[in-house]
Amino acid sequence: TQHLLARAKAHATLGAYLHLDEAGALATAAVADERRAAGKATALTGIPLAHKDIFVTRDMPTTAGSKMLAGYRSPFDATVVARLGNGADDFSGAGMVSLGKLNCDEYAMGSANENSAFGPVRNPWDTSRVPGGSSGGSAAAVAARLVPAATGTDTGGSIRQPASFSGITGIKPTYGVCSRYGMIAFASSLDQAGPMARSAEDCALLLSAMSGFDTRDATSAERPPQDFHAAMLTARDGATAAQPLKGLRIGLPLEFFPAALAADVNGAVRGALAELEKLGATLVDLSLPRTELSIPVYYIIAPAEASSNLSRFDGVKFGHRAKQHGDLLDMYKKTRAEGFGAEVKRRIMIGTYVLSHGYYDAYYLQAQKLRRMIADDFQACFQQCDLIAGPVAPTVAWKLGEQGDDPVKAYLADIFTLSGSLAGLPGMSVPAGFGEHGMPVGLQLIGNYFQEGRLLHAAHALQ
Ligand code: GLN
Repeated sequence: TQHLLARAKAHATLGAYLHLDEAGALATAAVADERRAAGKATALTGIPLAHKDIFVTRDMPTTAGSKMLAGYRSPFDATVVARLGNGADDFSGAGMVSLGKLNCDEYAMGSANENSAFGPVRNPWDTSRVPGGSSGGSAAAVAARLVPAATGTDTGGSIRQPASFSGITGIKPTYGVCSRYGMIAFASSLDQAGPMARSAEDCALLLSAMSGFDTRDATSAERPPQDFHAAMLTARDGATAAQPLKGLRIGLPLEFFPAALAADVNGAVRGALAELEKLGATLVDLSLPRTELSIPVYYIIAPAEASSNLSRFDGVKFGHRAKQHGDLLDMYKKTRAEGFGAEVKRRIMIGTYVLSHGYYDAYYLQAQKLRRMIADDFQACFQQCDLIAGPVAPTVAWKLGEQGDDPVKAYLADIFTLSGSLAGLPGMSVPAGFGEHGMPVGLQLIGNYFQEGRLLHAAHALQ
């Protein structure tokens, strides 16, 4: 803990941390040491981690990367935070040591961590490049070895894409596996928490601790607690030492390998697929015909839900309030004009537009129907394969500022992660190799509902 606190300070220019809780971390680490000595430790007790600043925390400030919440302090811990470790005075969780809060795009809206009100995060592999987003602080912190593990959230790719851009491993479980209680809401029907770490094995340990049914989240899946680490290690029927993935059918949707896919990304992903074949897997060509449509569908549904979720930030109960204002309506307007950044405002406007009378049927309802068809397309594919594989993103990490003011450019780069999110399926990013400029490339693996164990097993075999 001491070493990593010093490392975090030495590499502050990466912009990964928004808050470092030195006193809290040292106090928790001391109690963890005592528990370990007393034989009361789990595999995670005393291991440092840090949280994406979208999870509310009792002992540290929470901003969601927004000026709107600057200085905000939650009275409670998010379920995911509490389960991983809730500080020196309470070891009812896994007993991990929380070092601090990590930078992210404002309300998790973005793909490059350039939408944080507190400045960008830099990619440790090349500090002129972005780490991906929206969990960019989490990815950069793990990649730079500032911390061995971090929490992230994924609404349309925000765990998988930064993991890919930063050369680490991340898993977004099936919607409902991790509680959303205390996770500041962006698009509630899509938001899902997950771990980001150096390996599938570390992710499995973290996911086992942070997941599970929670009565405080009505969409939390009511299933018995799962040991993802055991699932990861369980041998497949017919597996051999040389071919641990024997019999595993991996589907390759042709839409995940379009002509526009960068050659370096294609090369690295094909290389990883060849490795999976050597490990015994068979590759099956198939189709997800509505892949391109996942972009407009997501960018209608997510802003629609965001416009509703973000209405709570009105300057009355918490967060920023405009200093000078007239009546109540004027206070709302000035507060929101000052507190939200450009991308958040854009999404609130898109969301209120697609939900408004006269446009609802044309946009929101159509998007909902397509969402169902996209989910059905996946089920048709899972008749022919056990896992789906492809790239996470069409290119390696781009340069800071490179995308300028064109939000659509960033939206289009989400093409490979959005469909899995819309369907609520588990997905992960595993390092596949390197592309242009020596930048990391991730392989995406998508499983059927609650098949996290199968994903982790394949990723672990690859690593
Ligand atoms: N890049 C996507 C967006 O901007 C996904 C973000 C996320 O998963 N939180 O909405």
